[in-house]
Amino acid sequence: MTASSLFQTYNRANLSFEKGEGVWLEGSDGRRYLDMGAGIAVTALGHAHPHLVEKLQEAVAGVWHTSNLFRIPEQERLADRLVAATFADKVFFCNSGAEANEAAIKAARRYHYVKGAPERWRIVTIEGAFHGRTLGTIAAGGSPKYLEGFGEPAPGFDQVPFGDSEALKAAIGPETAAIMVEPIQGESGIRPFDIAALREMRRLCDDNGLLLIFDEVQTGVGRLGTLFAYETIGVTPDILTSAKGLGGGFPIGACLATDDAASGLVAGTHGTTFGGNRLAGAAGNAVLDVVLADGFLDEVKRKGLLAKQLLAGLVDSHPTVFELVRGEGLMLGVKTKAPLGDVVGAAREAGLLVIPAGDSTLRLLPPLIVSDEEIREAVNRLDAAAGAVEAAAQNGAGA
Ligand SMILES: *Cc1c(COP(=O)(O)O)cnc(C)c1O
Repeated sequence: MTASSLFQTYNRANLSFEKGEGVWLEGSDGRRYLDMGAGIAVTALGHAHPHLVEKLQEAVAGVWHTSNLFRIPEQERLADRLVAATFADKVFFCNSGAEANEAAIKAARRYHYVKGAPERWRIVTIEGAFHGRTLGTIAAGGSPKYLEGFGEPAPGFDQVPFGDSEALKAAIGPETAAIMVEPIQGESGIRPFDIAALREMRRLCDDNGLLLIFDEVQTGVGRLGTLFAYETIGVTPDILTSAKGLGGGFPIGACLATDDAASGLVAGTHGTTFGGNRLAGAAGNAVLDVVLADGFLDEVKRKGLLAKQLLAGLVDSHPTVFELVRGEGLMLGVKTKAPLGDVVGAAREAGLLVIPAGDSTLRLLPPLIVSDEEIREAVNRLDAAAGAVEAAAQNGAGA
């Protein structure tokens, strides 16, 4: 353990990075790492992407911040582009995924309030969900692990089990405002919803006058090979939240909504000091320049299929270490049979960064610019890591 003045909120690896380029990072230990985690799906265009560097350098030389008391051209342009590319009519910018979800929850509650139904304020959420770490979003996620020790959870959330249609119907009552769901659960282990279940949610929302909220903080900004996952799935929400990849590493979050769903959050009802400032707007626009360029998203889809296929082969050749592969596009999970921490550690020893998730699943969330060759190299390194885990298990058994 290194002595530290920081809150002890993380179990950090004793490693930092001095240089980065594309999918590669150079560690403080002098080794080169293949970064298949992208800072948890954040550096969507890899490290030091020339276009992002150029646009951010321009922005840094200009006016950084003026607050939302004034018009912000980069923010307006980013909103226009997100609206043009999606179902949404309006965008609210903030600084993180949790804040984007807070905005979505507030928008849903106030939508009913201004329509004369203030009693409709409860949100139905899904067990195993992750929506962030604010007091509101830990209550929305409902995970006992994140709620413990923080007093009475914020009220107004009704949890139903993953994929249980009957429980979902039963949870909807006269006080329900919305259903909130991650199209693919990320933190709890890349657990995909079946499309039928998401369609059912859309139908239940339409039948009961509820809003459908998709938390696309992790699935969004091209990760599945469409700008947002809802396009891949074919079910359109009323409100969608984005963050992680949206700034390519610069903190920015966004809540997208239809005109109707945004109608409750009028002047004075919600706000943020930093949200969507000029630097953040410049970063978001630079990311969209690349992600929305012709053919980019098709490549993500193709590379996702390649990665999934190679990983499936790897699972077959290491049946004591791995169990199965799941996910879509470049949001892939490999469920492990061996202890997850051992596999993630062995991967790091083999020069590969992957991200642990729930349900004993390691996540691969590479920068979307990853090449075929780098995908193959990542799978080779994971192969070496699995070999090391097998050898250690054998030595352990023999000892
Ligand atoms: C990461 C994540 C969040 C929280 O985002 P922060 O920026 O850490 O607040 C919310 N929802 C999902 C689906 C996420 O993956």
